[in-house]
Amino acid sequence: MTEFLDLEAQDGVRMPWNVVPGTRQEAIGCVVPVSAIYTPLKPFPSMPVLPYSPLRCRNCRSVLNPFSIVDFAAKIWICPLCFQRNHFPPHYASISEDNLPAELFPQYTTIEYASPDDRPSSVPPVFMFVVDTCLIEEELGFLKSALLRAIELLPENSLIGLITFGTLVHVHELGFGQIPKTYVFKGSKEVSKEQLLEQMSFFLKKPKPITGVIAGVRDGLDAESIARFLVPASECEFALNSVLDELQKDPWPVASDQRAMRCTSTALSVAAGLLGACVPGSGARIMAFVGGPSTEGQGAIVSKSLSEPIRSHKDLDKDSVPHFHKAVKFYEGLSKQLVNQGHVLDLFACALDQVGVAELKVAVEKTGGLVVLAESFGHSVFKDSLKRVFQSGEYDLGLSSNGIFELNCSKDIKVQGIIGPCASLEKKGPLCSDTVVGQGNTTAWKLCGLDKATSLCLIFDIVKKESPDATIQSTSNQFYFQFLTYYQHNNGQMRLRVTTLSRRWVAGPGSIQDLIAGFDQEAAAVVMARQVSFKMESEADFDPIRWLDRALIQLCSRFGDYQKDSPSSFSLSPRLSIFPQFIFHLRRSQFVQVFNNSPDETAYFRMILNRENVVNSVVMIQPSLISYSFHSGPEPAFLDVAAIAADRILLLDSYFTVVIFHGATIAQWRKAGYHNQPEHQAFAQLLQAPRDDADTIIKERFPGPRLVVCDQHGSQARFLLAKLNPSATYNSEATVPGGDIIFTDDVSFEVFLDHLQRLAVQ
Ligand SMILES: [Zn+2]
Repeated sequence: MTEFLDLEAQDGVRMPWNVVPGTRQEAIGCVVPVSAIYTPLKPFPSMPVLPYSPLRCRNCRSVLNPFSIVDFAAKIWICPLCFQRNHFPPHYASISEDNLPAELFPQYTTIEYASPDDRPSSVPPVFMFVVDTCLIEEELGFLKSALLRAIELLPENSLIGLITFGTLVHVHELGFGQIPKTYVFKGSKEVSKEQLLEQMSFFLKKPKPITGVIAGVRDGLDAESIARFLVPASECEFALNSVLDELQKDPWPVASDQRAMRCTSTALSVAAGLLGACVPGSGARIMAFVGGPSTEGQGAIVSKSLSEPIRSHKDLDKDSVPHFHKAVKFYEGLSKQLVNQGHVLDLFACALDQVGVAELKVAVEKTGGLVVLAESFGHSVFKDSLKRVFQSGEYDLGLSSNGIFELNCSKDIKVQGIIGPCASLEKKGPLCSDTVVGQGNTTAWKLCGLDKATSLCLIFDIVKKESPDATIQSTSNQFYFQFLTYYQHNNGQMRLRVTTLSRRWVAGPGSIQDLIAGFDQEAAAVVMARQVSFKMESEADFDPIRWLDRALIQLCSRFGDYQKDSPSSFSLSPRLSIFPQFIFHLRRSQFVQVFNNSPDETAYFRMILNRENVVNSVVMIQPSLISYSFHSGPEPAFLDVAAIAADRILLLDSYFTVVIFHGATIAQWRKAGYHNQPEHQAFAQLLQAPRDDADTIIKERFPGPRLVVCDQHGSQARFLLAKLNPSATYNSEATVPGGDIIFTDDVSFEVFLDHLQRLAVQ
């Protein structure tokens, strides 16, 4: 596994198949697709940033890279992707074997370019806060104080805007002189950009242009009008503070059998329209703070009557969801608008109820927005996460904007699409596969917002036909991939990151061992998780369990060692041996067992899965468990109910939740206060160790996970038990040392493996 981590440390890429099945037939037989999880802005401290423009192949436009074959005498380079011969331009005249430009150094397969004429731009980042006021006083108080703290952290040069909403939408003038002023819009009615500008007196001083699109200062708006709504952070602190200080709960009365009138979608539409008119094309984020379900306007998810429950997975399954499709359609439209404008939608959803994350998902994900889901604005998950967004230093998110991702590959490869936070730019070409997954039918994608963790899952097709002539293989058995990411660095500079990969391909008899040697089972599990989530959302009547089981059985019967019809003879190479376990846990995970959660939670989990790297995603699929006891130092434990013992503490990390679980005896000692007595220092240390480890995990993660501290047999213990392999259940006879059993009808891993072996050898 370390070699795959080394590859990731060099290029930010993990691929399930690092030796690529070389023909279409071969690739289909491999079950897990040829694919890559790529983190375009992964930080590499030693990566050079070249102060000049890249050299491109005149045929396929790919960028000069270490895999290019260079003829130093003739000053020619051959593009490895299309084999085109290219002349070096005059300024490369001094090139020689001893005088290579950095982009040809073998170790710089990932490199960045910053063109010299592109001085750090003066375009400031823009933050438009969109704040829900249909909250109880306590929640509104939490939200106000979190926002006030965030404002202190805003970059001085950034521009800030504020919209509040409830029954109505209020756009606040922050650049006011004496009297604070707001513009009010009806929550039930959609407002066009033209109406918006008209009503907000944008054309008082400068008349509305008769033709053309109104877009920013250059096209139609006067700077003074814009400055009323988007104000530099350094100038508006007072105004913003006083507006927030005086912010009241939505004043419209709500009957006891009714929900509040909350026009989330109209507020977001006003925010998008305003930004589209004022700052099109420059990095801007709408940060929405939503504290309950949307009940008004195009994106309403439920009616105002409390007698109508909010849609559940069951309702979605039966398609008895009167509001859902309409709301999703609205947010699809909004996402198109935002992608065109280059703007991001971030969602902070904090409520005990669902707020409509499932409907909003498309707009957040396609714009590369951040999402945080918590039960209250007072919860640390929300407060700490919001702070992280603006924090600089070690735990900086590395937010960047205005990204475009493009790819190029050898001619026998096509791209099906990307599952991840991006939007298709609909650039069709010969590289596009007929099979489409996620954002497909294109070779360019927009990433309005991206950060150093953003990880895309690219799915490829191998189109090479089976060749009867096996000798052809010897001419060139390398496939090449090139990933190009243009983006605006947070210092304002435009950058281009280029990653070029080479992978050997194999085909025909005897290739199995090579394929196995290049199999990265963690990456494979993550690709399967993103695929199964995508299919569950996009294919009617899709059966995820059946799909996963069939894939696993096929993979095992192809790559396992066994004698036909002899299950006991079955074994897997260490390269594949944990894969069945990953699939077992994936089947039980929140991504597949959606009925244990609300549609909002499911949407949230999947959005995070779709943007995280392999290591983090593996934790979401198969949580990690560490055991602490007097007998030994902290050690990894099997994710099994047998790990529970009275004299142990367990630390479970399931990514979204971190659980510290005290065994019964430990809990008793703690309740008796032993850790406070000087003679029981060792116990105090034992109690503290998992706390410290949990803190380390929480600090590095965005959004922050929920921390649950609980005791054996306590009600919160369910957060641990739900993730453990039910090797002992109420219907098994075995007694377990920890004395815990799990009330479930799920099969245990042993039973699962047994079935798998029987089916794989058939
Ligand atoms: Zn080329």
